[in-house]
Amino acid sequence: MLRQLFDRDTCTYTYLLADPATEEAVLIDSVLEQAERDLELIAQLDLRLVAVLETHVHADHVTGAASLRDRTGCKVVFGRDSGATGADVVVGDQDRVAYGERYLIARETPGHTPGCVTYVADDLSMAFTGDTLMVRGCGRTDFQQGDARRLYRSVHDKIFSLPDGCLIYPGHDYKGRTCSTVGEERRFNPRLGDGKTEDEFVVIMDALDLSPPKRIDVAVPANLAAGLVA
Ligand code: FE
Repeated sequence: MLRQLFDRDTCTYTYLLADPATEEAVLIDSVLEQAERDLELIAQLDLRLVAVLETHVHADHVTGAASLRDRTGCKVVFGRDSGATGADVVVGDQDRVAYGERYLIARETPGHTPGCVTYVADDLSMAFTGDTLMVRGCGRTDFQQGDARRLYRSVHDKIFSLPDGCLIYPGHDYKGRTCSTVGEERRFNPRLGDGKTEDEFVVIMDALDLSPPKRIDVAVPANLAAGLVA
């Protein structure tokens, strides 16, 4: 079972995944201000939250991970290269995060940040890519030790190698698009698909000239601690 939830302020998607057989659930990329919303849904559906997974250390919002851990006793999961001190569990390539009889498989996809992880469903039917691959776009690579060449290789080696029909669920969307597929992004992603080379991608990313996220100075240190605001 999958529910896609949205935070309007930061255009962040949060994903609730559950195994109906055991009623165990995981939450991917929660938002602190939405913790009550998420807990209410989990309670209404009679689910037990076993883990909150972070695709990376976010710069634009504070995660609800530590708050949800306090309230439910769930584990907080980060990528092993995230640098997060607030993690209970760190995952590397091919590590599994179980919920009931189901599981997610971690694929390390550095580039947006060094510790980015894509979580892939056990049957390869869907992938939660965070800011590594978005619908017709990708996360920026100009801060948090971002690296456009690493991002390009992560997407091509670890995400475009999934089946064409695998659904892509991104960390954000600013235009109202909810999901895509591997095949669609391989064909139509204007930065990473459609035959774009690594060198072409680097030129595109260098030319973006984006302003920093408003809350980066608060969000990054808080998120390294799984969402504990100093
Ligand atoms: Fe991000």
